[in-house]
Amino acid sequence: MAKVELRNISKIYEGGIKAVDDVNITVEDKEFVVFVGPSGCGKSTTLRMVAGLEDITEGSLYIDDEKMNDVPPKDRNIAMVFQNYALYPHMSVYENMAFGLKIKRVPKADIDKRVHEVAKILDIEKFLDRKPRALSGGQRQRVAVGRAIVRNPKVFLFDEPLSNLDAKLRVQMRAELSDLHLRLNATMIYVTHDQVEAMTMADKIVVMKDGRVQQIGSPLHLYNHPANKFVAGFIGSPPMNFLSLKVADKNGLVLAGDGCELRPPAECGEPLKTHLNKTVYFGIRPEDLSYVEGSEENTISAKITVVEPLGADIHLWLLAGTQPLVARTGPSRSFKVGDTVNFRADMSKAQFFDRETELTLLPAGNTPG
Ligand code: ADP
Repeated sequence: MAKVELRNISKIYEGGIKAVDDVNITVEDKEFVVFVGPSGCGKSTTLRMVAGLEDITEGSLYIDDEKMNDVPPKDRNIAMVFQNYALYPHMSVYENMAFGLKIKRVPKADIDKRVHEVAKILDIEKFLDRKPRALSGGQRQRVAVGRAIVRNPKVFLFDEPLSNLDAKLRVQMRAELSDLHLRLNATMIYVTHDQVEAMTMADKIVVMKDGRVQQIGSPLHLYNHPANKFVAGFIGSPPMNFLSLKVADKNGLVLAGDGCELRPPAECGEPLKTHLNKTVYFGIRPEDLSYVEGSEENTISAKITVVEPLGADIHLWLLAGTQPLVARTGPSRSFKVGDTVNFRADMSKAQFFDRETELTLLPAGNTPG
C-alpha cells in the first residue's frame, strides 16, 4: 500500500523563484500518475520534493498518511530513476543493482537472488558482468530501472527516463514500463514534457504550467473535456485548432467569423448565450474536421497552405480567412497547396473557451477524474 498526497505544496528557490505554486495532488495506491507540462513548469521540482531531494517551502507531503516533509530521502522508501541513468561507471551491472541493498546490509544470498530475479524480469541477465559503458542507451535505462526495483520501494519516481533514447526505443520502453507497472503492482509517478508518453502510460495525468496544476484526470477525460485552452492545446497532436468567433445568436447557437457560420449543439446554448456579441475561442481537433465536396452546415472554408502526407494520414495546414488551422484526413484523396476546400466540423466534439480567462465554457471540463 502506498498513497502519496501533496497538500498545498509550494517551492520557492533562493532568489524568490516560485517554481511550484500551491499544488494539490493525490496519487492513489498502485496508480501510474504522469506529471506533464512544458519545460520549466515545475514538474521535476514537484517530483524531487516527493523524493526528498528538495525541501518543501510550504504545504505537506504524506505517504500513506504519514507526514514526510522532514523525513530524509533514504527513509522514505522511494526509488527514483533519472534521465541520465546515474549508474556508477566503475561498477558492473550486477554491482550497480546490488549497491542499494548492500548499503542496507541485506544478506549476500538475498541480494543475489533479488538481482537475478529482477534482471530476468528486465531481460538483462546476460549483461550482469558488463560495465555500463558497454551497454546501449536502452540497456542502461533498464539497469537504472532494475536498480530501483531490487529495492522493492513503496513508490517509484521517474524523471524523464526516456528522453535520451531514440524515437523507436522510446516507444518500446514506454510499453515495457507500462507492462512493468502492471506486473509490479506498484505506485509510480512519472515526469515528462511529452504528452504522448502521458497519454499512453498514465492512469491519471497532472497537467502543469507555470508551477500550477491546470487539470488532473484520466487521459481520455483530459482529451475530451479540457478545463482550459492550455490543456486543450497541450494534449493531442497536431494540437487542437482555436478559431476566434463571435456568438451571433441570443440563444448562443450561432458562432460567426472569417466567412464561417457554425451551429453549436443545443446543450452549449446556455453557457454561450452569456457571451452574446462577444468573441470566444472555438476549439476543434484536427480529426474532427472532415473534408466535404460542397458546402454543408458547419463547414469551414479554407485555403490549403501545406500538405503533409504521413502515410496513414494527411495533415493539411489551412487558412480560414486570417486564422490558421490544421485538419487530419485519410490518404484516399490528394490535395494541392493553394486550393480552397471545405471542412465540416463535428460540432458534438467542439470546445468553447472564454477569451479572457481561457477557461472552458462547458461544464464537464471542470470535473477532474
Ligand atoms: P520542469 O521539470 O517542469 O522543466 P523544473 O521543476 O526543473 O521544471 O523548474 C521549475 C522552475 O524552477 C524553472 O523556472 C527553473 O528555472 C527553476 N529552478 C529549478 N531548479 C532550480 C534551482 N535549483 N534554483 C533556482 N531555480 C530553479
